[in-house]
Amino acid sequence: MSESFDFDIIVAGAGVGGISAALAAARLQMKVLLLEQAGEVGGTGVFSSVSLICTFRDSQGRPITSGIHRELFPAAYTHYNEKLVPTYDEQELKAAYERLLASEPTLTLWTNCQVTQADRQDGRIVRLHIEGSRTAAVTAKVYLDATADGNLSALAGMEYQLGREGDGKLQSATATFKVSGIDCSLLKEPDIRQWQAIHSLRKELLPYYLDMKAAGRTGNPRQSITCFPYPDGKALLFNSTSVLDVDPTRPETVARGKEEGIRQAQELFETIRQHPAFHHAKLDYIAPKLGIREGRRIVGEYVLTAEDCLQSRRFDDMVAACAYALDIHSPDGGATRLESIPEPGYYHIPYRSLIPKGCANLLLSSRCISGTHEAHSSYRIMASVSAIGEAAGTAAALCVFQGLEDVREVNPAHIRFILQLRGQFIEGEVERTPMPASAAWAAEMKES
Ligand SMILES: Cc1cc2nc3c(=O)[nH]c(=O)nc-3n(C[C@H](O)[C@H](O)[C@H](O)COP(=O)(O)OP(=O)(O)OC[C@H]3O[C@@H](n4cnc5c(N)ncnc54)[C@H](O)[C@@H]3O)c2cc1C
Repeated sequence: MSESFDFDIIVAGAGVGGISAALAAARLQMKVLLLEQAGEVGGTGVFSSVSLICTFRDSQGRPITSGIHRELFPAAYTHYNEKLVPTYDEQELKAAYERLLASEPTLTLWTNCQVTQADRQDGRIVRLHIEGSRTAAVTAKVYLDATADGNLSALAGMEYQLGREGDGKLQSATATFKVSGIDCSLLKEPDIRQWQAIHSLRKELLPYYLDMKAAGRTGNPRQSITCFPYPDGKALLFNSTSVLDVDPTRPETVARGKEEGIRQAQELFETIRQHPAFHHAKLDYIAPKLGIREGRRIVGEYVLTAEDCLQSRRFDDMVAACAYALDIHSPDGGATRLESIPEPGYYHIPYRSLIPKGCANLLLSSRCISGTHEAHSSYRIMASVSAIGEAAGTAAALCVFQGLEDVREVNPAHIRFILQLRGQFIEGEVERTPMPASAAWAAEMKES
């Protein structure tokens, strides 16, 4: 029999966006339920092993993302040095997620729970149905879609776009893999924690890879080798395979893509072992989840475009910022398109891009926010998704404790006020608003 539970806020998906949102809302005394279909929290940043902390700094080196992202990756702030490759260990990140989530008394986490149905009435979500370790109906005042692929929004009937404008093709997917046991003393530049050494290493490995391609021993369309060091400088994460035509809304393409990704990872590992520094190297693991870069983009009150990114646009309803380049891993297998954000090196993400059209109590809290295929290739990185999640969780909490009927009524200047108090980077006007000191206080505020 299906049980029923009621919360203030429900977040679907426990990747970096969902976790940041759940923490932000729980820190405002909200009763939060975080749902994750997998057995453990972490999402892509843990189970697809992405390793690099992509840039969150403007052209002057100033952080334009901080807040919860800083709690997750403290060394990237405290030990910043532009000569070093900023990376993280996925097991440490998972431990940080678990520690932060466990420290919030008003936050409930259910893993192995998939949202399978969203009931909608009069332009609002009224109930979610979950299956897995529990079969239940759950209700809340505000719902957050942190599923990366917009699964909750799609279940609720929201309009969405998928893939490249014109032909709907998606960015390529990647099976990353970890290699240890490297004899760095045999490399031209042995300290692989440095950018210069990593660029040099990629060049050293390239001829082996090109020979393999020329001999037809791989189906990997990628033209170069990409790898990053683990923080201790003793292992490497290869982000260097490329699988085309993987669409997360079609499970059969994901299953086929995973097989192809594993095949390419094994082929590449065998090839790099020909380099003397890798003769005794070990393939520690291939990431358990195929890395999928792109899924549904939910159509919201504002659609963020490539022009907005490339003109470093400012918005009055700014709630997050992004400094990362447009980075499109070609859907056709060609070269990656990389285009930097011009001076001052970042753009604003407006609150309206977090609000799906046609629903009063749903917010987007992961890479599925409203934007084009090109813009998505930039803000999909973990720093921006964490900032998006933190803003969405804060907005949802404001909606609840101010007793608002529609997430559109939340004042972005109030969101920024709270984000600023919490140490997040913000720009634009802030307007002070009382914050709940306890769950009971929040309920009182709503009634008065
Ligand atoms: C190969 C690859 C390399 C990358 N490299 C980098 C990099 O170097 N640096 C960087 O910053 N970014 C990188 N990225 C991008 C970045 O990792 C992701 O875009 C980001 O982590 C997405 O976070 P998210 O919270 O939106 O989604 P996810 O982390 O994917 O989390 C979504 C969660 O929702 C859950 N879920 C889905 N549907 C449901 C449902 N119905 N019910 C319950 N739960 C559900 C999923 O199981 C998942 O745990 C890379 C991405 C890929 C694929």
